[in-house]
Formats: sequence, C-alpha cells, structure tokens
Amino acid sequence: MTTTTRAIAAPAPGAALEPTTIERRDLRADDVLIDIAFAGICHSDIHQAREEWGRAIFPMVPGHEIAGMVAAIGEGVTEYRVGDRVGVGCMVDSCGECEHCRADSEQFCVRGNVQTYNGVGFDGENTYGGYSQQIVVKDSFVCRIPDGIGLDVAAPLLCAGITTYSPLRRWGAGPGKKVAVVGLGGLGHIGVKLAAALGAEVTVLSQSLKKQEDGLRLGATEYFATSDESTFKQLRGRFDLILNTVSAPLPVDSYLSLLRPGGAMVNVGAPSEPLSYSAFSLIGGNRVLAGSMIGGIAETQEMLDFCAQHGIGAEIELVTGEQVNTAYERVQNSDVRYRFVIDTATLGG
Ligand code: NAP
Ligand code: ZN
Repeated sequence: MTTTTRAIAAPAPGAALEPTTIERRDLRADDVLIDIAFAGICHSDIHQAREEWGRAIFPMVPGHEIAGMVAAIGEGVTEYRVGDRVGVGCMVDSCGECEHCRADSEQFCVRGNVQTYNGVGFDGENTYGGYSQQIVVKDSFVCRIPDGIGLDVAAPLLCAGITTYSPLRRWGAGPGKKVAVVGLGGLGHIGVKLAAALGAEVTVLSQSLKKQEDGLRLGATEYFATSDESTFKQLRGRFDLILNTVSAPLPVDSYLSLLRPGGAMVNVGAPSEPLSYSAFSLIGGNRVLAGSMIGGIAETQEMLDFCAQHGIGAEIELVTGEQVNTAYERVQNSDVRYRFVIDTATLGG
C-alpha cells in the first residue's frame, strides 16, 4: 500500500499549478519517508514546468529544495531516525558504481542521475518533487540539516546553496580573491553570502541598483548596475572569478572583459537560449569560461555544515500553495527577495 500525499502540480507545459494528490512508494529497506515542511521555488522549476529546457514529464510536481523531518525509515536505514531534520536536493538516485558516483559526483552518473522530479527512477516510475507533503527517498540521497539552521531558510540551500558553493570552492573563492556574482536572485544572494563567508571580496553585478542595500548587507563590498555602460569600463580586468547566476542569456564578451588574466567566468544560470562569445575574449588573457552543475551529495552535506557554522540561510518569502503561480511570475520578472519557499502545511490535508 502506497502513501497518498497532497501536492501541487503543473498538468501541462506552462499551465498553472493546481492542487492534486500523488502516491509515494512503500519504503524499501534503504528508504526514508520525509514529512516535507518547506520547499523552495528554484528558477529551474519554472524552466521545466514551462518546458523551456525541452520535453518534460507531466503532470509535474516540481521542487528540489526540500526540508523536513524523517517520518519513517526502512528496515536497513542506520543513518537516520524518525524526527531527524533532513533535506533533499536535485537528485534522488544514481547507479552508485560508476567512476563519477564513486568520486562523490553523482550528478555525473554515467547512467544518468535520477532527478527529484521530471525524472524516471531506475524502477521505471516517474519522480515527483517537493511541492508536496511527503516524499520517499533513498537514504544515501538524504542530507542532514544541522540544528543551527531553520528548516525554512535551509530548504533553498539544497539547490541554490550547493550550486553556488561548489564552483566557489572549485575556483578558489577565498581571501585575496575578487569575486563578482551576476544576478541577485535565489542563487545569487546565497552566492554572495557564501563567497563572503569564504573570505573573498564580493561585488554584485545586477541589472539595476534597486537591491544595492540588500547586496551590501548580504556581504558584498561593491554593487554595480549592468544597465550602466560605464560599469564595464570601470571594472575592466578586475575579477578573479565571475559567477553567473542569470536565467537569461548575457553578452558574454562584456563579462569576460571584466576578468583578470587567468580569471574564470563560471555559468550556473541555465537559459534555454544559447550563449555566444568571441574566441579572442578568452585568448586575450588566458581566460576560462566554465559551467557547473549542482554538486555531489557529500559536498552538499559539507555546504550545509559550512552554512550552519557561518549562520547562513536563505532570505525567504514564505508562500502558500495558492500563491505559487504568482510567485512564478514574480521570479520571472526578477521580483524575488530572494527565494520563495512554500509552506507545505498550506497544501491542505
Ligand atoms: P532567479 O531567482 O530568477 O535569479 C536570477 C537573477 O538573474 C534575477 O533575480 C536577476 O537578478 C537576473 N536576471 C534575470 N533575468 C535577467 C536578464 N534578462 N538579464 C540580466 N539579468 C537577469 O533564478 P535562480 O533560481 O537563482 O536560478 C538562476 C538560474 O540558475 C536559472 O537559469 C536556473 O535554472 C539555474 N540553475 C542552475 C543550476 C545548476 O546546477 N547549474 C542549479 C539551479 C539553478 P538582478 O535583478 O539582480 O539582475
Ligand atoms: Zn534548483
């Protein structure tokens, strides 16, 4: 007998999300049943619910920023107990055997990682995400949320946190390094907090100066509007690292010109349209243009522990299930401060 749980789902590409119920599988030996308390709204949810990244599976219950409490465990689970505070991010399974899984990079599993939603499990069943009241997840894809972080502000860390932490670490954000974060949205605002906590000197590059006060409060020392052309002249050759979190295409050459020789621009933003750049923007200065996809489970746990140590959580606006469609519009219009989080108690039941 499966568990029926309340959820909100997009019935078709671009359709408004509406209340529904879904079934969660019976616990396997290594499964954890989680009572979801909060689910963050990531821009990736919107890209997928609107089928901006190609064909998707409908009905879709989005949500890969999940925080809650363990409600039950399978007979073989030893790491978690009922009542533990836990989170689930973008993946719920991988083969566990390939070189990438063994290197703690499950996101690059050669069989393909199983996405938390809009995916198909190795059992052939469609996956449904966190905009729901309960979820069943294999224990090795569950992370522990340290006591120091509230579940509501922790939820966004499961995607926005790891997606910014991983490249900041990999590309050496730290003391003596000048880091620019492009886009002060969900990913961007956590990127600013993390880069500052890692000891880097942080600059925000936003479309306007509307959020300047917030950017400086979050840990940036400088803040510039990219709509002002003089910004690109003034900051030429300045940064060691540019973290691009923007969900739309950018004029890449202009941003590459802001890098010091040897500097790197890392894209985590995932617009559906292609980005283009001139080879000379890279050649002139040995510059690097890179990408980064979430992070492995071990690194996600490391990030959560780092956030607890440094008092980092997301800046959130709690919404009800009914408000999710409006929240999607606001995210689309860059009107998010800085992550919408669904209080799943409002999904009814
Ligand atoms: P978000 O909250 O909407 O933030 C994106 C920010 O980009 C906006 O707040 C805005 O900041 C800026 N922006 C939006 N449209 C723009 C435009 N046309 N020109 C210039 N700037 C613009 O989105 P998010 O949840 O942080 O996600 C950001 C992107 O990362 C999405 O594409 C998402 O799919 C992707 N993502 C990737 C990964 C990965 O593993 N690589 C993981 C999660 C998400 P300002 O108002 O400050 O300019
Ligand atoms: Zn996400």
